[in-house]
Amino acid sequence: MVMKSAKIVEVFSSIQGEGVCLGQQQTFVRFYGCNLRCGFCDEAGKNKFKEYSGKELVKAIIKKNNRVVSLTGGEPLLYAGFLKEVLPELKKKGFIIYLETNGTLKNKLLEIVGFLDIISMDIKLPSSTGGKAFWKVHSDFLKASTRKKVFVKSVITNRTTLSDIKKAVSVIEKVNKAVFFILQPATNDDRVQKIKHIQKFLSVSSSRLDNVRLMPQVHKILGVR
Ligand code: SF4
Repeated sequence: MVMKSAKIVEVFSSIQGEGVCLGQQQTFVRFYGCNLRCGFCDEAGKNKFKEYSGKELVKAIIKKNNRVVSLTGGEPLLYAGFLKEVLPELKKKGFIIYLETNGTLKNKLLEIVGFLDIISMDIKLPSSTGGKAFWKVHSDFLKASTRKKVFVKSVITNRTTLSDIKKAVSVIEKVNKAVFFILQPATNDDRVQKIKHIQKFLSVSSSRLDNVRLMPQVHKILGVR
């Protein structure tokens, strides 16, 4: 479905603080709203947004003058119908498109995957989020993402169980064990949580996958947006 406008919280320039592009200067487009409710979410309860038309968004992105555009949220794939119109314009202008997604909306991904360069997808661990499991949904999403550069991220907290880590590892292993798996300790009030079983989580994951990394949210440690 074509969407003429999208609810966007902010368009800003900053440093990517997570995942395999850590430290890269990017323009962030933060979309409003999400289909999930994770317990550790720092976007929940934010209700300010502005409606952007496609043209207005392209203009705002050009103004920021960065080569990489990070679509983030909330959940950007809720706006696939809008992105379908905007991304071809951005690609024509030579932008690199980086999608940050919760990894649950495969059909929406398929509408725009051709315009993406890098996909950062979550595997939501129910013991971390306090919500339900999405193992099959994440598996299907990851399979659809392997057409592009993709890596997986899971937020871990002191409630995270080894059993959930093993299930996430299985999802990745069955698709491609070379896909990067990033364990990201939750951050509360800009402080990285100290996770009791972190070494165990790392060693179990690394014994089955080729590329496991422990990475906190560096932008929060540096005190940048
Ligand atoms: S998927 Fe991301 S934006 Fe959505 S509730 Fe979870 S942490 Fe928040």
